[in-house]
Amino acid sequence: MTAAIIRAQQVEKYYAQPSENRIQVISPTDLSIIPGEIVALLGPSGSGKSTLLRMLAGLSKPSGGEVFWHEKPIASAEINVSIVFQSFALFPWLTVLDNVEAPLKARGMSARERRERSEKILDTVGLDGFEAAFPKELSGGMRQRVGFARALVVEPEVLFMDEPFSALDVLTAENLRSELLQLWTKKTIPTQAIFLVTHNIEEAVLLADRIIVLGRNPGHIRTDFKVTLPHPRDRKTAPFTQLVDYIYKVLTRPDVAPAEVPATSNGKPVRDQRQMHYQMLPHARPGGIAGLLELVVDHGGKDDIYRLADDLAFEVDDLLPIVDAAQLLGFLTVEEGDAVITAEGRQYAESEILGQKTLFRKAAVEHILLLRQISRALTTKSDHTIHEEFFLDMLDEQFSEEETQRQLETAINWGRYAELFEFDASRRRFILPENDESPETVAEGPAE
Ligand code: ADP
Ligand code: MG
Repeated sequence: MTAAIIRAQQVEKYYAQPSENRIQVISPTDLSIIPGEIVALLGPSGSGKSTLLRMLAGLSKPSGGEVFWHEKPIASAEINVSIVFQSFALFPWLTVLDNVEAPLKARGMSARERRERSEKILDTVGLDGFEAAFPKELSGGMRQRVGFARALVVEPEVLFMDEPFSALDVLTAENLRSELLQLWTKKTIPTQAIFLVTHNIEEAVLLADRIIVLGRNPGHIRTDFKVTLPHPRDRKTAPFTQLVDYIYKVLTRPDVAPAEVPATSNGKPVRDQRQMHYQMLPHARPGGIAGLLELVVDHGGKDDIYRLADDLAFEVDDLLPIVDAAQLLGFLTVEEGDAVITAEGRQYAESEILGQKTLFRKAAVEHILLLRQISRALTTKSDHTIHEEFFLDMLDEQFSEEETQRQLETAINWGRYAELFEFDASRRRFILPENDESPETVAEGPAE
């Protein structure tokens, strides 16, 4: 086995809380970055991708475990890495050339050598002629080229990138991706390994030699496999789309262990052994769930998730919570990368607004623990009202403070829509709706 450049051993990250509980963001994880590989790290937002990247890059100290740089503890090693961020992070008051020279200056390189190296790298990334421009004069794509030049000018052994193409338009992103890949495959740059965080599945399959999928709450590796397709990769070929489908499948089924990886890769799925009390409610709106279900019914009750996303011009990050939510409610199942409508889902999609509310209420109480608890508490309590604090306390044993708030917000949103309860936002209390024979007739604002 090739010696690792960076090796993380049982690294974890948690944040202390005022109470005794701590928020675990990354559970103890082993991971190595070896020479010759582009590694893509995929995962839903909030799963800890950036946190893991920062620990591997030596920017953030793990709460437990250790990161080694060529087998030396990273804190005391002389490391040579750079990072490209989504937000470019250029100095607005410096010219392009000065921005690129900045890290060399920080390393104490002579003015002449700095200039030479910077001009050369600007040439390489296609910024020749822009040396004297200021960042604000450049388009997003050109600014990110400066970001790449500044990262590459130090000739990093490992290049880290955190969603570097996410802020760019589709064509610019595609263009920059293929240029980066060319620099890498032709060895124009001396970089030994690339570690790319992304939420774009196709981007990962297009670029990576190895793909790691993180699950959330706390962040943990769900699957880690090699991609053996030759470059340049064609998005339209069967092996490409099969792999994209497989990753969709892993991402859309957060509760199950990943199945066999397609033949184009050699997978070592890691079994997910954690058992959580509350499900993580995806932050999707009832209106969005209804929209997705209607589209699936319209497509004959079953469609490739990858194609649905494409049809909707949705990014994974936007579609996944909706698919997740529909699955949680029992309206949809995901099989082999296909979204398949269930009998309940079809009935929901084909009902009128009030019928939809009734079906949603039934599904919510049946499948979602938090909503079931709120509903039970309200029916059993004599005054039929309860403060949100009661549920926040239970949720924050499991989620971060921020996520606890988001979980409750989503539950409120769903429960209001389903007319399971009313929520008085000024008093922060849940209230059981007036006991009117048919709650369907309770007038409330339209669903989102
Ligand atoms: P990703 O990059 O996958 O979107 P991040 O690594 O940015 O995820 O964040 C992972 C989780 O860590 C999030 O749920 C976030 O709320 C939590 N987190 C980040 N910083 C802190 C902090 N200082 N205290 C508590 N939780 C934090
Ligand atoms: Mg991030």
